[in-house]
Amino acid sequence: MRSIGRLGQPALPFRCGFPVSVPFRRVTMHVDMSDLDTPIPPPAPAGPTDLAGLTPDELSALVVELGGKAFQGRQLFRWIHRKGVTDFAAMTTLPKVLRARLAEQAVVTTPEIVRRDSSADGTTKLLLRLDDGRQIESVFIPDTPSQTFCISTQVGCAMKCGFCLTGTMGLARHLTAAEIAGQVRVLARELGFLDTPFNIVVMGMGEPLHNYDATMKALNLLGSEEGLHVSPRRVTLSTVGIVPGLEKLAKEPYMPNLAISLHATTEEQRDRLVPINRKYPLAQLMAACRDFPLKKRSRITFEYVMLAGENDTPADARRLVKLLGGLKAKVNLLPLNEADGIPYTRPSDERVDAFAQILANAHITVSVRKSRGRDIRAACGQLAVEKSA
Ligand code: SAH
Repeated sequence: MRSIGRLGQPALPFRCGFPVSVPFRRVTMHVDMSDLDTPIPPPAPAGPTDLAGLTPDELSALVVELGGKAFQGRQLFRWIHRKGVTDFAAMTTLPKVLRARLAEQAVVTTPEIVRRDSSADGTTKLLLRLDDGRQIESVFIPDTPSQTFCISTQVGCAMKCGFCLTGTMGLARHLTAAEIAGQVRVLARELGFLDTPFNIVVMGMGEPLHNYDATMKALNLLGSEEGLHVSPRRVTLSTVGIVPGLEKLAKEPYMPNLAISLHATTEEQRDRLVPINRKYPLAQLMAACRDFPLKKRSRITFEYVMLAGENDTPADARRLVKLLGGLKAKVNLLPLNEADGIPYTRPSDERVDAFAQILANAHITVSVRKSRGRDIRAACGQLAVEKSA
């Protein structure tokens, strides 16, 4: 990544890599904005309770119901999330009778790894199969100083941003909290990170604030002391800017870093590129950002996909400077990852640099995201829809 920020400012510690080739049953979903008011529920929990989606307190309550002790619920959480053990028989600190009852009445779902692709740059993309057969991808981006997992919150996405292939899929369904947190659990175990700190970017497939409750529950599971204990400072949630979701997020005790997918500087331009802008206009979004409670030294990251001839002119850059005036902000420029079916092209490096320079001259920290994993189609927005599973 090239960093064109103020002197001494590090480049953003992450670069999203993302997904591709997710066979799933195509849903014919015409997303007009009212669809967002009728959230698609996750699949009904068919059959036994999924313990992977329960907090330590919820597990304790369940264990007590089954005749065990509350602390055994927390042990159970530790087995699942900290040690990555999902077979009750192997949970040797729990009494046999409790293990037998759990096995009768509950399951621990775990996304199953069906393929692992490694990029020349070290990015690893895992294709994961969920319990209902749908598939998602999660990406591991090795880096210095830290390692990053990029995870999904939905199968597909309803937002239909004009440059993103995931948007062409429509929304198949929300992921459950168990499935969102499960991606990290599986990646951490598979790649040997159960005992090493890592970062999480919620930048995979889907719009996290459109699946608010499951996403926040998953982050809480991941943050739990008995589990992987991921600090919220290591988590970045990227959103297209669903304003009521942002207002809710502002009050969360587990507060991740915030990245806003801005991509445009006028209402008219953003309406075109990011259709949700018609429901939550730029002016409202910027107001919500200004109200967002930021910790000391933290800033909101504004992501700006760069599309040749569309939003990459010096005038765009100057408008962006104005828009961010007075905000604790940094900008991450994302030169478009081109794909068939996306009606935009990537600007030249010179164009991107000229844009970045205008921001840097205005003392805005700016970095240019170098896409990772493009050779395995794991870079941002490269999710392609393939035939039905
Ligand atoms: N729904 C969330 C997460 C999306 S993916 C959001 O909108 O923020 C993370 C970033 O990749 C977003 O900023 C998204 O706009 C961007 N992106 C999507 N398609 C892209 C593409 N083809 N090239 C580069 N970045 C892309």
